Amino acid sequence: MAAEFTGPPPRTTESTAFAGALDVIRRVEPRVADAIAAEITDQRASLKLIASENYASPAVLLAMGNWLSDKYAEGTIGRRFYAGCRNVDTVEALAAEHARELFGADHAYVQPHSGIDANLVAFWAVLAQKVEAPALARAGARHVNDLTEADWSALRRELGDQRMLGMSLDAGGHLTHGFRPNISGKMFEQRSYGTDPATGLLDYDAVRAAAREFRPLILMAGYSAYPRKVNFRIMREIADEVGATLMVDMAHFAGLVAGKVFTGDFDPVPHANIVTTTTHKSLRGPRGGMVLCDEALAEHVDRGCPMVLGGPLPNVMAAKAVALAEARQPDFRTYAQRIVDNAAALAEGLTRRGAALVTGGTDNHLVLIDVTGYGLTGRQAEEALLDSGIVTNRNAVPRDPNGAWYTSGVRVGTPALTTRGLGTAEMDETADLIHTVLTAAEPGTTAAGAPSKAKYTLEPKIAESVAGRAADLLAGHPLYPQVDLG
Ligand SMILES: *Cc1c(COP(=O)(O)O)cnc(C)c1O
Repeated sequence: MAAEFTGPPPRTTESTAFAGALDVIRRVEPRVADAIAAEITDQRASLKLIASENYASPAVLLAMGNWLSDKYAEGTIGRRFYAGCRNVDTVEALAAEHARELFGADHAYVQPHSGIDANLVAFWAVLAQKVEAPALARAGARHVNDLTEADWSALRRELGDQRMLGMSLDAGGHLTHGFRPNISGKMFEQRSYGTDPATGLLDYDAVRAAAREFRPLILMAGYSAYPRKVNFRIMREIADEVGATLMVDMAHFAGLVAGKVFTGDFDPVPHANIVTTTTHKSLRGPRGGMVLCDEALAEHVDRGCPMVLGGPLPNVMAAKAVALAEARQPDFRTYAQRIVDNAAALAEGLTRRGAALVTGGTDNHLVLIDVTGYGLTGRQAEEALLDSGIVTNRNAVPRDPNGAWYTSGVRVGTPALTTRGLGTAEMDETADLIHTVLTAAEPGTTAAGAPSKAKYTLEPKIAESVAGRAADLLAGHPLYPQVDLG
């Protein structure tokens, strides 16, 4: 008879790696080690429906925590301002190669530290190509340092006097698409296009009319809260007609492009002059950004550092290379398809229970619930859901009566829960949990008795029961099952 097995289960390589790292950190500042360990506990316990978040693989996470971080590597692959960049060259070249192959792009620049930074690199690349280079040519100068004071002064004014046309914030556009609180709004004169009030869908004729009238330098497409596909072939036609550069910010849906859910007219890469993205949202990589572009823009994009970026983060570029290699595997396509299948199931489950969705549904990874029908603001809905163990974020809906702070919507997305392994049946249960909370939550009043946009009431019994059901949903799908810190 075999001896009874009484010892601890064998540790996985991942468990050993993370537990070892925490031990090393704990010797210096135990509170940091504790916070890191607490984060995985929190993430394991929450039903995460934040459309912009995901769970990166252990390989991606571990690629970030090492000595590549110690290198300065300003410049580009093989052309650095610092010596000793052999290994940084290796990881940056790998990340760029995987990005080009994955997306079918002419050129990839993987240094941006975030989505905002990728957009800044792209804006300045377009300005350099379309404003600075012609000015240099007119002056017969090869470099900005060769311009006279007067020519330089004129060029600076010209750079600051350009236009951008992008999607309005309440239709789902992003702050970095020319809005005043962001530097893009201070750089560009901006006008925005919205969606059709009747259908909630992007109205290409309206975009065309706005482009003809406004004649932007950059036509911007892309969004963070629009639940539908965008036809980038039509957007490129519009851009070409008015002489604009088509820039697409695919920060949110890069994973759907990588996973070949968005193809043909809906794949931005073959249509846009320049594409920016984050690497940490549906693409499931490290927190960071990236720019893809055609050959004509490549030399300008490559000047991103040191023009607008600080030294690249070689450890994060290593993690980008790992994540992009993962996204080139066939199972990433399955993952991307499951993201949209899950979003469709969530939308269907919500609609069947009576929720109102902006555009009536979804064909990407996110659903925008208009919560006015529940008598709530977005803020009240978001907090009531959080009390019940469901993590979402409030979001403006088109022509939002409650403005950008309180809002009238809740945005939910499926990339994270899909990574965790939840499927369409669990999405129907999730829809039921959301609907139960939003139905039970009541708007509150201020201390003076006036209606409040922030206060709400929710019976603790209901919050508890929903949180329990949410925990049951998650229990069958452990997060990072290969990581046991115990
Ligand atoms: C998230 C997002 C960004 C910003 O990304 P950061 O990495 O947070 O800077 C930019 N554009 C769009 C469309 C986004 O959704």
